[in-house]
Amino acid sequence: MDGIRGIYMDHAATTYTKREVLEEMLPFFTEYFGNPSSIHKFGRDVRKHVDTARERVAKALGADPSEIYFTAGGSEADNWAVKGTAYANKSKGNHIITTNIEHHALLHTCEYLEKEGFEVTYLPVDEYGLVSVEDVKNAITDKTILISIMYANNEIGTIQPIEEIGKLAREKGIYFHTDAVQAVGSVKIDVKEQNIDMLSLSAHKFYGPKGIGVLYVRKGVKLINFVHGGGQERGRRAGTENVPGIIGLGKAIELANENLEESSKRIMGLRDKLIKGLMDKIPYTRLNGHPVKRLPGNANFSFQYIEGESLLLNLDMKGIAGSSGSACTSGSLDPSHVLLAIGLSHEIAHGSLRLSLGAVNTEEDIDYVLEVLPEIVERLRQMSPLYEKVKGGNTNV
Ligand SMILES: *Cc1c(COP(=O)(O)O)cnc(C)c1O
Repeated sequence: MDGIRGIYMDHAATTYTKREVLEEMLPFFTEYFGNPSSIHKFGRDVRKHVDTARERVAKALGADPSEIYFTAGGSEADNWAVKGTAYANKSKGNHIITTNIEHHALLHTCEYLEKEGFEVTYLPVDEYGLVSVEDVKNAITDKTILISIMYANNEIGTIQPIEEIGKLAREKGIYFHTDAVQAVGSVKIDVKEQNIDMLSLSAHKFYGPKGIGVLYVRKGVKLINFVHGGGQERGRRAGTENVPGIIGLGKAIELANENLEESSKRIMGLRDKLIKGLMDKIPYTRLNGHPVKRLPGNANFSFQYIEGESLLLNLDMKGIAGSSGSACTSGSLDPSHVLLAIGLSHEIAHGSLRLSLGAVNTEEDIDYVLEVLPEIVERLRQMSPLYEKVKGGNTNV
């Protein structure tokens, strides 16, 4: 598809930019180069298209265009939502509730705020990665100003009970933010129905360009400005707009929502075939994440007695791109905080592999992985002294 070589199964890390999206962006580098804040025709023409992109985003989320703020991506949107509400509502309280499986953009922001005098509760999750609504309820104090819980997890794909958490937060008068970077374009979202006050998304996770995202902020939510300067984004986020990015994001979200059901169904079919095939073929394997409450494209496995990094390298040599849950981006050898949070031991977490499927994948890709992966796992296991001892025993992990 669109000239992609090799078997790409790392859509949770990023996606390619769809041809239709790129084509819609291109004129905004050249003939439509005006600054959308300018009064003249060059500016006005561009402004019109920025407004259209904003309307497309609003429509996809069930929001009003005036509630859509363009940012430089998902990380910025997360930072803004959390720091923005924390600082703006300090007089009401200093307590934030989140989970221990959030993306680092959220977790590290919360850790920063702890140093600034805020208190953060990091809720645990169950073995499937689900947070309990009861736990959220019990964590609320009269100092709680924000609940931030991700829509769907980027590593294990688990989808949280967003609507129930939103309802609870609304009843208690506490702001509710969700990092929906993995969910947008894969599952149907309605910020009004789901009582969401703030939501982060990022174009490069749904076939749009990198470096552009959105923070949805419900009308009436109090948050401080993230970037000070000019009057862009209704004075709340300064800086000349990333116009081509905004145009691309608008097109990408529209395309994603048009084909949401159909593409999710197709990808889910591939994912289920992959999961079943690998679980059948490879003993001592565990599927991480929830069996059904999970993103259509997410498959995450732990293979006992092997090391995720070696597995990745071997897959790469066969032209298959996946991701390991064992090493974090900082290059440390600590296993992923998400895999530890669902109760995996360090040893088992180290043998993990995420294959995230998307638009580029086909039945043939799945067949190829089902042929190649079991052989690689077996070969790596033969090198493990522990594996020798257990062969032929209980195969449940
Ligand atoms: C990718 C991702 C982010 C970060 O988005 P960027 O646009 O890359 O900054 C945040 N949260 C989740 C869940 C993600 O998957």
